[in-house]
Amino acid sequence: MDSIEKALVFDGQVKVVAFKTTDLVNEAIRLHSLSPLAAEALGKVLSVAAYMSNELKGEKEKLSIQVTDKGVLGSIIVAADSGAKVRGYVEHKDATLPPLGNGKQDLFKGVGSEGFITVIKDLGLKEPYVGKTELVRGNLEEDFAWYFTRSEGAPTALALNVTIGEDGSCLSAGGVIVQPMPNCPDHILVVVEDIVSNFADIGEVLRVKSPADILKDYFGHFQIEYFPPTVPEYRCKCSVEQMSNAVITLGRGDSVNLLMERGEIEVICHFCGKRYVFGKEDVVNIWRRYDHKL
Ligand SMILES: [Zn+2]
Repeated sequence: MDSIEKALVFDGQVKVVAFKTTDLVNEAIRLHSLSPLAAEALGKVLSVAAYMSNELKGEKEKLSIQVTDKGVLGSIIVAADSGAKVRGYVEHKDATLPPLGNGKQDLFKGVGSEGFITVIKDLGLKEPYVGKTELVRGNLEEDFAWYFTRSEGAPTALALNVTIGEDGSCLSAGGVIVQPMPNCPDHILVVVEDIVSNFADIGEVLRVKSPADILKDYFGHFQIEYFPPTVPEYRCKCSVEQMSNAVITLGRGDSVNLLMERGEIEVICHFCGKRYVFGKEDVVNIWRRYDHKL
């Protein structure tokens, strides 16, 4: 079962989070019929978003992540609500490249390495927080480690893996994030670095250990304070009301033309693939409500 396990170790000097997101990635594959390349890339961004949204404090806080570059996958868009509830899509979900072997896809060419990671956090303040860093490797592991270090000012070791099997399903997904607090003493950093070297092949570690085991086995013998675990979930929030905005976006003229041409307007949610069909009466009501609001 998927889970996110968090702890503070070394008397609160280091934050460690281990997460398993296999079910989450498989749900994305099911909803979007992702190619293995798209599944690994979107799976990694969904996994990081699950971790990040689990760190949000307020129930109404939310965030979005955009990874944009010139790779064959196009843009990757993920949105997440507080408590590790995530959803996302890839612009070119069918894109494929020759795999690198060992269950790994060529993300360097798939994502690109000249674009950007942009994170927008809505923390209920007047202005959203916006963080943006350049992609450094395109594998999304080092790119997000760089994002946390550079944009959020938190030096971060990130081990991240999504393994897609021959049949296109996700065999294992997850990772470990280790963040020393500011002013963490050097002798602790040395120990932490040594532990982190065990996660070089995090895919292998996650195949035999649960996130709870990872915390216990690698960090349990230091002073450790566990937080309650979270179950990450793929959850879309689309609704008739929200999707009817797409009709408004079309404009009055185009929505009427489309209606005359096809008899209905079909809108498909990017995040979950759900179809919304608006007939003549619906469209009239959508515009009536819109005019009423003005
Ligand atoms: Zn949806």
